[in-house]
Amino acid sequence: MKLKIYQVGEPVLRQVARPLTTEEIRSAAIHQLIDLMRETMRDSIGVGLAAPQVGDSIQIAVIEDIAEYQKTLPAHILAERGRKTIPFHVVISPLITVEESATVTLFEGCRSIDGFAALVPRAASVKVECLNEHGEARIIEAQGWYARILQHEIDHLNGTLYIDKMISRSFMNKDIYTKNWHTKSANDAKRTFLGKT
Ligand code: ZN
Repeated sequence: MKLKIYQVGEPVLRQVARPLTTEEIRSAAIHQLIDLMRETMRDSIGVGLAAPQVGDSIQIAVIEDIAEYQKTLPAHILAERGRKTIPFHVVISPLITVEESATVTLFEGCRSIDGFAALVPRAASVKVECLNEHGEARIIEAQGWYARILQHEIDHLNGTLYIDKMISRSFMNKDIYTKNWHTKSANDAKRTFLGKT
């Protein structure tokens, strides 16, 4: 079974989600939700999904990037995006700190803003302190695409969407992104839409 993904305009996507108690994290209801979120993320070919996107204003996100999603991309583009395989994991009640304030600008999409993409500047590396699905404390140090996914999903838990941070001149229809930019360098897109690198 997959869950309905809420679309931009639904108030739940703009609320600050509440943290969970350890007792809640270990409950059957939350574990069932995590299973359904994993299924929903995989069904939508996404690399992350936050609970507000399925209508639950609680601080849970699931993340996974599998090799199959990357096979359409040439090696130099995977390298530019810092994209590597990320095993499935759960991020609960996260606290994010920027480790490297230098930003990287790449295209990003969101299943809650279906059918669009835009260039979004993000911190190059971040540190996330969170709990896992067993309520155990975890520290994640992430760079590249993984750091981007974490920033995107944790933004969801704070009611923020990528359109709040995007370079608006680069906002585009997903089909045009797929046709013209998916396998291209983001520097070419920056030149096209911003007239600079
Ligand atoms: Zn999203």
